[in-house]
Amino acid sequence: MTAHHGDDSVHETRSARNSSARGTLAERDSTGFSDALSAEDLSAYDAEHVWHPYGAFPASTRPLVVQSAEGVVLRLADGREVIDGMSSWWAAVHGYRHPRLDAALHAQVDTMSHVMFGGLTHAPAVELTRRLVEMTPEPLQKVFLADSGSVSVEVALKMAIQWQRANGNPERTRILTWRGGYHGDTLNPMSVCDPDGGMHAMWTGVLPRQVFVPAPPTQWSEDYADILRSAIREQAEHLAGIIVEPLVQGAGGMRFPHSGYLRVLREETRKAGIALIFDEIASAFGRVGGTTAAELAAVSPDIMCVGKALTGGYMTLAATITTDEIAADISAGEAGGLAHGPTFMGNPLACAVACASLDILAEGAWRSQVPRIEGELRDGLEPLRNARGVHDVRVLGAIGVVELDEPVAMQAATDALVDAGVWLRPFRNLIYTMPPYISSSEDIAAICSAVADAVRASTQN
Ligand SMILES: *Cc1c(COP(=O)(O)O)cnc(C)c1O
Repeated sequence: MTAHHGDDSVHETRSARNSSARGTLAERDSTGFSDALSAEDLSAYDAEHVWHPYGAFPASTRPLVVQSAEGVVLRLADGREVIDGMSSWWAAVHGYRHPRLDAALHAQVDTMSHVMFGGLTHAPAVELTRRLVEMTPEPLQKVFLADSGSVSVEVALKMAIQWQRANGNPERTRILTWRGGYHGDTLNPMSVCDPDGGMHAMWTGVLPRQVFVPAPPTQWSEDYADILRSAIREQAEHLAGIIVEPLVQGAGGMRFPHSGYLRVLREETRKAGIALIFDEIASAFGRVGGTTAAELAAVSPDIMCVGKALTGGYMTLAATITTDEIAADISAGEAGGLAHGPTFMGNPLACAVACASLDILAEGAWRSQVPRIEGELRDGLEPLRNARGVHDVRVLGAIGVVELDEPVAMQAATDALVDAGVWLRPFRNLIYTMPPYISSSEDIAAICSAVADAVRASTQN
């Protein structure tokens, strides 16, 4: 494991203090949190009051209490340690408590944590913008700093619609996408998520109705390319934009679309005057083996969303980046600018840590780490292809996916993973991993072996 061991003394001191200091909120540990609540107390209060993602009351399972994290390891309150094979949902690519990210954040706190972005600007935001302009395809020049991935998708959709309006096409308001996608949880991004996965039937009359084409195949198919072409041509007069996740569909099903379809989308959208939006919130910053999927596929969109790994997993931050042309057209339109401006836009803490994270990426260690992890995931997971209950095994960049025939038995699979010292969060019929780039070969071997245990635990009956 990459993280430190031998911290048992800390646990002992802490639990000793837990028992003596219970109930006294005055006593605080180095994290600033009261020691009054034991892990059991936290867990119990959490179960009563705290919403978790897609949560319910009562929850079907109790979340594990994490005490601290370092390197690739999460240290649980009960003293167990698990390798985080999820990078906290694609984000913590450099691992936890990275000295340079910690230092960037400390330095920024000591300078200025936040100021409003209307009428004011600052070095962290400008520096981050410069890095984003340099790291993304050349036509992308204008950067909108958003506070989460979903908000960056909202902004991208508004950009496309405002652009059409400004160009005298107010009837072009709909968005086309392929099935199997995921673009966030606020209402407009939900409207372009996979209709089945996103339970659109439940939201009829609430979500804007968008145009869907079948999910993209992993292999090249001229027939599928024709489906794309004819759908775009038929719908062109209603379409403001097309949004897709290039090269990897993440939370919508962990599928890997063939890059050739991105070229088809590029050609057709250019001809029809439709904005092509790449949602690279999961795929950007090395995960698929290129700085962006757009770079790897050699296709440049009109609008790109990035997020997740942008701050190395430290803070919530995303960005929507577009071309000079779209920015100029929107600015010349009736609204006189882009109609969006969050309170915490360009937050200096988030921008500072993002700059440090992008600097580490620019140094390029990921260019050997990601292909090594790809090979190790392939070697480690491929043998599962013949295991009972396994439908498919696929690997792309630092992403490994085992698809089962049936939904994963969540509790049994999670118990097997944690017993094997690994944290993964399966969903539907997918057990998958996107480990931090700093994961060692031993870490990847441990993850693959834990996945095998989870497959066995999930398919036992
Ligand atoms: C995670 C994700 C989002 C949503 O980002 P949030 O920060 O969770 O709002 C949107 N699109 C893709 C492709 C994602 O992976």
